[in-house]
Amino acid sequence: MLEYFVPENLGEALNALSAGPMDILAGGTDYYPGLAGQPAGRSILDISRLPELNGVRRTAEHGWRIGACTRWRDIARAGLPPAFDGLAEAALTVGSVQIQNTGTIAGNVCNASPAADGVPPLLTLDAEVEIRSAGSERVLPLSEFITGPREVALAEGEMVTALIVPSQANSLKSAFEKLGARRYLVISIAMVAVAARVEDGRLRDLRIAVGACSPVARRLTGLERALAGTAVADLSGLEVVTGRHLDALTPLDDIRGTGKYRLSAVPELVTRSVKRLIEEPVVLADG
Ligand SMILES: Cc1cc2nc3c(=O)[nH]c(=O)nc-3n(C[C@H](O)[C@H](O)[C@H](O)COP(=O)(O)OP(=O)(O)OC[C@H]3O[C@@H](n4cnc5c(N)ncnc54)[C@H](O)[C@@H]3O)c2cc1C
Repeated sequence: MLEYFVPENLGEALNALSAGPMDILAGGTDYYPGLAGQPAGRSILDISRLPELNGVRRTAEHGWRIGACTRWRDIARAGLPPAFDGLAEAALTVGSVQIQNTGTIAGNVCNASPAADGVPPLLTLDAEVEIRSAGSERVLPLSEFITGPREVALAEGEMVTALIVPSQANSLKSAFEKLGARRYLVISIAMVAVAARVEDGRLRDLRIAVGACSPVARRLTGLERALAGTAVADLSGLEVVTGRHLDALTPLDDIRGTGKYRLSAVPELVTRSVKRLIEEPVVLADG
């Protein structure tokens, strides 16, 4: 018989997972649409109310720890330092206010959609994924955790318990630009996250990640190297990003846009987001 189990603490949740295959449910905003009206095929483990998995905190050993079930709204409102501006902006573009109040950061990452808005900002922060089972704990770089569209490196019995952002990110500023068919409640056609230190008007430690333009969102390391040290004032538009820098991207044609359109949008999104790093702190449209 299928069960719907709501554990009271993390230990109970991990024991339940070790006892047999279960579907993990957080906010359910990807899980339920994925069922497409069919009943669940496996028992459900509802982790959405576990206190251990909620909230963002800074730790002495590991930098920032974002609990797996932290909701987008809470990330946007957490008052995090500028390194997290890109993530907070992404949070406020996920679906609608209702979706942001329900959907979680680990749900976004584990669903592994190529268009998951949370992934590019987390890649620019060198985020890591904390994974636990009843008997073990391991940490994987996010870039290794998502292995393909809808595929993640999780074994049976494991769950994601947190996203970790190393404290080296503290000196960065960040920004996020999303292109959709309209401003809100829309899946990305393409999105770009950037993070860097800006010293004397020059870009240092630049990180650029692009989503919805390859099976898995990815960093553009060639472009990062090419732009490193550039004076932000010299960024004069699309010509700073050449086709060669975009070779790693393989965007598809789908109902939201053609691959060609996506590729043509990326240079503009990169330029806009990099220029915003020297602007005044981002005022988030928390509506
Ligand atoms: C109307 C609508 C609009 C949307 N708009 C956007 C958008 O603009 N941008 C965007 O990126 N997404 C969007 N989404 C998708 C979704 O809201 C987000 O991806 C959200 O972050 C998913 O989180 P969740 O907690 O609801 O995940 P769930 O649906 O609960 O889970 C998603 C998947 O991850 C697994 N999972 C969840 N948590 C864990 C965990 N801790 N460990 C292991 N596996 C886990 C589940 O088993 C499931 O396979 C939208 C969805 C809807 C319905």
